[in-house]
Amino acid sequence: MKKISFVIPCYNEQDSLPLLKCELTPICDMLRESYDLEIILVDDGSTDRTWQIITDWSVEDPIVRGIMLSRNFGHQLALTCGYDHATGDAMISFDADLQDDITVIPRMIEKWEQGTDIVFAVRSQREKDTFFKRATAKLFYATQQKICKTTAPQNCADFRLMNRNSLNALLTLRERARILRTMVGWCGFKTDTVYFERQERSAGTTKYSLKKMIDLAMDGIFSFTDLPLKIAYYFSGIFLLICLGYLVYNGYCWFFQPHKLEPGWLSLVVLITGFNALILFCLGIMGEYISRIYNEMKQRPLYLVARKTEHSSENE
Ligand code: UDP
Ligand code: MG
Repeated sequence: MKKISFVIPCYNEQDSLPLLKCELTPICDMLRESYDLEIILVDDGSTDRTWQIITDWSVEDPIVRGIMLSRNFGHQLALTCGYDHATGDAMISFDADLQDDITVIPRMIEKWEQGTDIVFAVRSQREKDTFFKRATAKLFYATQQKICKTTAPQNCADFRLMNRNSLNALLTLRERARILRTMVGWCGFKTDTVYFERQERSAGTTKYSLKKMIDLAMDGIFSFTDLPLKIAYYFSGIFLLICLGYLVYNGYCWFFQPHKLEPGWLSLVVLITGFNALILFCLGIMGEYISRIYNEMKQRPLYLVARKTEHSSENE
């Protein structure tokens, strides 16, 4: 029988996990007839009862494997850990809070069986998200598609099925600043899409603070394109034109309309503040790239595992 792995990152999800178990169990019972299954729950350094719940679940059901990270490494690295440990012929990842509608999983599997390598589950609408979340998400996906030229569809988060081949390909990309949805888009392969309606969080609150969202968006740009590095060229071109224009205008005034000449201090203030701001901006962009090079150079592991459920260690 073919095997399917479910990968679920969990950070302080003590309230969502019991609900997830209720929803996932009937789907697993249906799939068990045709497939071997494994459920990999990655505890991303939770400080609540998440690990206890994962351990209890793994004792009750031997297909459940728990992996505890040594601290909070963030959603993308927790997912990466789950991907590394998945042993199935296909892997499906989704969030623990049931915002991803897991009832579409059988349709994803159907598409995989028909020969698709990667099946993206895309949110058809996000009316249940806050206005802020919808607005920032729109901006994020538009930038990703325009600047980073990823083939991943808009509004696909990390709810996706990958067959063994495409997952192995993704796992060869070991960069530290990761944004998996764009990396998957970069990999190519034969893809398809299923649509679902994004649900409200089943319990608890979002684990994506504003800082985590900004970091993700920054990684999405600076780890995927060198376009911002070239921004200094564009600015220098634009400012050169403005300066030349200003020079020509002043030359004209000097000869023909001296009363129209601007006082010297005004041009100085404009030039000094404007150029300083611009230079600092370009330096900041370089800093973003240099900090990423610095992090890559250290070659640290992407995440550290603190412990695994007994059953999982036996499997290794
Ligand atoms: N998550 C994680 N580590 C983190 C933040 C989030 O493993 O540092 C998990 C979280 O438990 C959930 C998924 O990532 O399963 C998505 O997080 P969340 O639902 O809070 O994000 P949102 O849906 O609000 O964007
Ligand atoms: Mg969520």
